[in-house]
Amino acid sequence: MKILMLYPEFPDTFWSFRHALQFVRKKSSSPPLGLITIAALLPDHWEKRLVDLNIQPLLDWQIAWADMVFISAMVVQRKSTQELVERCKRRGKTIVAGGPLFLQEWEKFPLVDHFILNEGELTLPDFIHDLGMGTPRRLYQSTEFAEMSCSPMPMWELVNLKRYDSLSIQYSRGCPFDCEFCNITAMLGHKPRTKSASQILAELDQMYQLGWRRNIFFVDDNFIGNKRQLKEEILPALIEWRKGKTGCSFVTEASINLADDPELMEMMAAAGFTQVFVGIETTHEASLVECNKGQNRNRNLLESVHRMLKKGLQVMGGFIVGFDHDPPEVFDMQIDFIQRAGIVTAMVGMLQAIGGTRLYQRMESEGRIHHDTTGDNADGTTNIIPRMGVESLRAGYSQVMSQLYEPELFYERVKTCLALYEPVRAPVRLGWDEIHAFFRSIWLLGIVGKDRKYYWDLFRWVLKKFPQKLPLAITFSIYGYHFRAVNRQNGLI
Ligand code: SF4
Repeated sequence: MKILMLYPEFPDTFWSFRHALQFVRKKSSSPPLGLITIAALLPDHWEKRLVDLNIQPLLDWQIAWADMVFISAMVVQRKSTQELVERCKRRGKTIVAGGPLFLQEWEKFPLVDHFILNEGELTLPDFIHDLGMGTPRRLYQSTEFAEMSCSPMPMWELVNLKRYDSLSIQYSRGCPFDCEFCNITAMLGHKPRTKSASQILAELDQMYQLGWRRNIFFVDDNFIGNKRQLKEEILPALIEWRKGKTGCSFVTEASINLADDPELMEMMAAAGFTQVFVGIETTHEASLVECNKGQNRNRNLLESVHRMLKKGLQVMGGFIVGFDHDPPEVFDMQIDFIQRAGIVTAMVGMLQAIGGTRLYQRMESEGRIHHDTTGDNADGTTNIIPRMGVESLRAGYSQVMSQLYEPELFYERVKTCLALYEPVRAPVRLGWDEIHAFFRSIWLLGIVGKDRKYYWDLFRWVLKKFPQKLPLAITFSIYGYHFRAVNRQNGLI
C-alpha cells in the first residue's frame, strides 16, 4: 500500500509568520505533527510519503504514485483542502481524512471516502482492520480519549526539516479549565493526559540526532494542566536532557496561573522554555465571568505577565473582543493593557463560535450564528452576531490592530518587554539563518522600510541598555514587519 500524506496550505495569517520566515530562509513555521503521528500508526510495511503544501507544490506524479491519500486539516485550511480533495478525486484516488476541520464539517466533504475522526490512536486501528477485511466504513468516531502512552513517536524521517522554523512535540492533551469558547476541551476533554518523561526524551533525542537545534514547540493546551507531573518528572528530565546540548529552546502554551508558581516558572526556564503563549482574553471582569475564564479573574493580570517576564519567559498573549459584556471602551482597555504589559506578540481576535463548543450552542440557541467560522482568529471576521453590533465590533477591532502594530506603539512595547525580560539563557540562537535575518532586517526595515527611524532608534537603545538582547530586538522587529503585512492584507490598516 502506498500512502500519500497531504497537508493543505495555510492562508497568510497572524500565526503563519510567513512574512517573518523569509528573513530566516524558512518556508513554514512548523511541520504537520498530526499527520506524521498518524503515519507512525500505519502498518510498517506500507510505503509513506508526505507533501506539505506549505513548503512545496503537489505534483501530479506524486498523486499518481499513491494508492490512498490521507489529508489532515484545521478549519483555517478549508480552502486548500477542498482543492486538494477535488484534485485527488479527479485522479480516482481513495481519500482518507481527519483532523479538526473534518471533525466539525465532515458532512460537507462528499468526495472523501473515509473519515478517521477524534483521536487517531483509537479510530485508525479499526479502519485498518476493516480495510484488511474489505469492509471499510465511511465514518470512524470515538467518544473515548486515548492514553498518551499509545501515541507513537512521530515519523520525523518523512519531513524535510530544513524548510521549517520550529518542530513540534505534544506532551499532553486536555485542559482542566472550561472556557466557554474553547474547542480544545470539546475535542480533548478536561483531564490532562500526559506522555511519560521517557516518551518525551525519546522524541527530543530523535530531533537532536537529526541535527535539529532551533525552537521546539510543545503544542499542548495547556502545558501546565498537570503541574505535579511536570515538577516531579518532566521538567527534571528536561533539565537533565539539556546538559551539554546546544540550541533547542522550548515554546509552549499555558494558563495564567503559571504566574502564581515561582518554582514552576524557574524550572521551566531552567529546562529551556523561553516563550509561553497565554490566553489573557480581556481585562474586563464581567467578560471573564461570561466566558467562564475563572483562572484569569480576581487577579492583577499585568503583574502576572511581568512576573513571567522576570522569570525568563516571554509572554505571547491571546485577546478577544466582542463578548456580550464588553463595554464600548473595551478597545482602548485592550490597547492600554497590551502596551503596559509589554506583550509584543498580541493575538487579538473577534469572538468566534467554533462548532462543538458551549459558546456555539449558546449562540445557536439565541439565533446568533450567521455563517461558518474562517478558523483564522485574527482576520477581523466573526461568525456570530455580537451584542454590540458587527459594525461597532469591526470598527473597534480595526482600531486595536492598527494602533497596536503601528510602529510607534509597537516599538515602544518591544522596549517595555526587553526592559522587563530577564532571560535565563540566550533566547535566540545565532546561526547562519539568524545572521541572514539580521542583514535582511537592516535592508528591509532599516534602509528601505518607511518606519526605519523606529528600527534604528530601537537598535541604538538596546545596544546602549541591554546589548545582549540585540538579537531578540531584531527578532521582534521582524515580527512587527509580519504583523503589519498581515494587517494590511486583512484591510485593518
Ligand atoms: S485555559 Fe485555554 S485550553 Fe484550557 S479551556 Fe481555557 S482556552 Fe481552553
